[in-house]
Parts: sequence; C-alpha cells; structure tokens
Amino acid sequence: MLRVEGVDVSYGPIQVLFDVSIEVGEGEIVALLGTNGAGKTTVLRAISGIVGLTSGRISFQDTDITGASPRQIVEAGLIQLPGGRGVFPGMSVRENLEVGGYVYGRDHARRRAAIKAVLEEFPALGDRLDQQAGTLSGGQQQMLSLAKSMVPEPKLLLIDELSLGLAPVIVEQLLGTLRRYVERGVSVVVVEQHVDLALSIAQRAYFMERGSIRFDGPAEELHGRDDLLRAVFLATATDG
Ligand code: ATP
Repeated sequence: MLRVEGVDVSYGPIQVLFDVSIEVGEGEIVALLGTNGAGKTTVLRAISGIVGLTSGRISFQDTDITGASPRQIVEAGLIQLPGGRGVFPGMSVRENLEVGGYVYGRDHARRRAAIKAVLEEFPALGDRLDQQAGTLSGGQQQMLSLAKSMVPEPKLLLIDELSLGLAPVIVEQLLGTLRRYVERGVSVVVVEQHVDLALSIAQRAYFMERGSIRFDGPAEELHGRDDLLRAVFLATATDG
C-alpha cells in the first residue's frame, strides 16, 4: 500500500531524516516509535507532501507520489490526522465534518452521504452537530478529529499521537472505532509516545532514533522486549 524508500529530509541546512524506509500493507497498523525529536512527525509530513524530500522515493498503491502536492496526496486517499487538536474550535461539529469533506468539491450529495456514514461510526457526534467544536471535551475533540479524517474515506490514515492527553477509557473507545475501519481495509501509521499502547494495536513497529530507523519488527516480538526499548531510548538519552 505505502512504500517509503531511502528518504532524506532537511529543514534548511539541518538534515533530520536519514535514509528512512517504511512499508505498510493493506489493512495493516504500523507504529512509528521513538523519543522526542527522533523525526517521527517529519516522516508523516514527508508522506503527506507537507515537506519535500532531498532524496528517496514514496509510492502509494504502486503510484509514485514523490513530490506530489498535499492536495493530490489527500485525493489519492492518504489522510493525516494532525497531532494535538485537529479541529477548528470556532466551527460547529457539522462544519468541521464538512471541511473534512472538501475533497468532494461541489458533489454535495456525496459529501452528505460520507458524513452520514461517519456519524454512524461516531454516534456521540450526531447529538452535537450544532455545538461549537471548541466547547467539546478533549476526548470528544479527538473523536471529531478522527471522524473528520474519515469523511474523505482514506485508504491510509497517518495518526500523530492519538492518545495524547486523553484518559485511557477514551483512548479505548477511539481505538475500537479505528479497528472497525482497519477491518474494512483501511491502513494506519500511528506515531505514539505511549509504546505499550502502540504495540498493542500495531502489527509491526519501526523504532526511530535521531532521524534513522534503528530497527523494525512484528509488534508481538517487540512487546515486552524491554531490553530493545531500553537500548534505543537510553542510548538517545545518554548521547543527548
Ligand atoms: P516529537 O514527538 O517531539 O514531535 P518527532 O520524533 O516527531 O518528535 P520531529 O518533530 O519530526 O520529531 O522533529 C525531528 C527534528 O526536526 C527535531 O530535531 C526538530 O527539532 C526538528 N524540526 C521539526 N520541525 C522543524 C521545523 N519546522 N524547522 C526546523 N526544524 C524542525
């Protein structure tokens, strides 16, 4: 589904990604782990076309999308759920969902149908369509952010920190909804600080350190391998 090959990215003169390669299969959840500043968010930005590559190649469903615009990438079915609050706080829940459906252009019927389908997965939002998004709780805002990302019917969802600042019970609810989409073939790349959580939902994980992939493997093998995790996280901590 997604193939990232040998990607380098620089912010101005500073190189932050070094030869990053990642693969995601159809209906697969892949976790991208690592300490602060390891480059995880930059990998997502590179895939979304928000930052350019200095070298490497990205293909999506066997089509080369290297250098494609963020809009072309969204239209191809690759949607990023931004870290933090991914909603427009001054807009209503309904308006936020409509923004998520901008890819449908003037096809209002298609947009309405897509929003209706999403509301079936997120019934709590259906009762709050006219509420201003900024007045929702943190968990509800994250739910809206996820729902908004589902309106364009993504084939691959890039999620930056789903669990950030949320109570475990809310995270479980969001994961339950996410799993239902995955069962229908949606693929997910999830960036998480919360390693146990990431390994519990992902089939495979990649560990990043200072802009490079240090190792990758099936989540079930990495789960409980504190020795590996410590090696990566402590090496980063002591090397500064
Ligand atoms: P975090 O979880 O803290 O966001 P991360 O693993 O997602 O960490 P990135 O945000 O991708 O890491 O950052 C990788 C490196 O790039 C860091 O050294 C960061 O300071 C730097 N960086 C990130 N964004 C920019 C930017 N817009 N301009 C310059 N440097 C940046």
